[in-house]
Amino acid sequence: MDKKIIVITGASSGIGESTAKLLAKNGNTVVLAARREDRLQKIVSEIKHQGGQAIYQTCDVTDLTQVKNLAQVAIDKFQNIDVWINNAGLMPRSELYKGRVDEWDQMIDVNLKGTLYGIDAALPSMRQQHSGQIINISSVAGHRVSIGSGVYSATKAAVLALSESLRQEEAHDKTNVRITVISPGAIATELTDHVKDSETKQQLDKFYQNYAVEPERVAHAIDFAINAPADTTMNEIIIRPTAQI
Ligand code: NDP
Repeated sequence: MDKKIIVITGASSGIGESTAKLLAKNGNTVVLAARREDRLQKIVSEIKHQGGQAIYQTCDVTDLTQVKNLAQVAIDKFQNIDVWINNAGLMPRSELYKGRVDEWDQMIDVNLKGTLYGIDAALPSMRQQHSGQIINISSVAGHRVSIGSGVYSATKAAVLALSESLRQEEAHDKTNVRITVISPGAIATELTDHVKDSETKQQLDKFYQNYAVEPERVAHAIDFAINAPADTTMNEIIIRPTAQI
């Protein structure tokens, strides 16, 4: 398989970290982005220690200038971007009547607007080079709504919608840019650490303790989607723990 230049947002923990490590192990060059620089530094040095190629760039995906700068850093260093993974995300769930408006705003800014900013940053150079792949991380929650998941599910359903629109646009214009959505179920990461509503946190912790599988499972699905033959696209992969209803 061709080795690729791959940018990953939200690479300082969980699915992003695992994906960066696996893709680097498989010979790709990875550009890790997130806000926590100490984490990024540590992961990049671990990858290099294993013989992989990686750099990092701090980036808050709610800031379009920073996201565009991330793309520029990758292009300046490696000439092009083959794959851009919009993975950064937050899940501070709670029922709507609780009115945790700040958390709604955060989820919309990171999960939805952050993904759009990533597309805006990555697409021009991919269209110009007539190749590339944008991978957006949605969720099973984008397909299936439950009590307390309203805003999170809405952001992840929006990621599904905009990914499908983007897929049709790129196919229509024959740009050769592939669009993939990965929709994971319960994965053992730091995602639930930031749930502030105590009732929801208790329920989620129990659910994750019972069902969650390791983030490497998702990393392998992403690797599979990247390695599909160039004329074929994995448009969506839904990946759940087997026991998750
Ligand atoms: P983690 O909390 O472990 O990782 C989230 C990542 O997002 C971190 O690297 C964090 O880095 C980054 N991030 C958060 N806010 C921002 C921001 N403003 N700018 C840049 N980066 C940001 O959780 P996961 O690995 O589980 O989450 C990864 C993705 O997978 C998310 O989109 C999530 O919604 C999705 N997902 C997860 C599931 C699960 O069960 N774990 C299930 C379905 C989907 P930092 O704080 O350093 O900026």
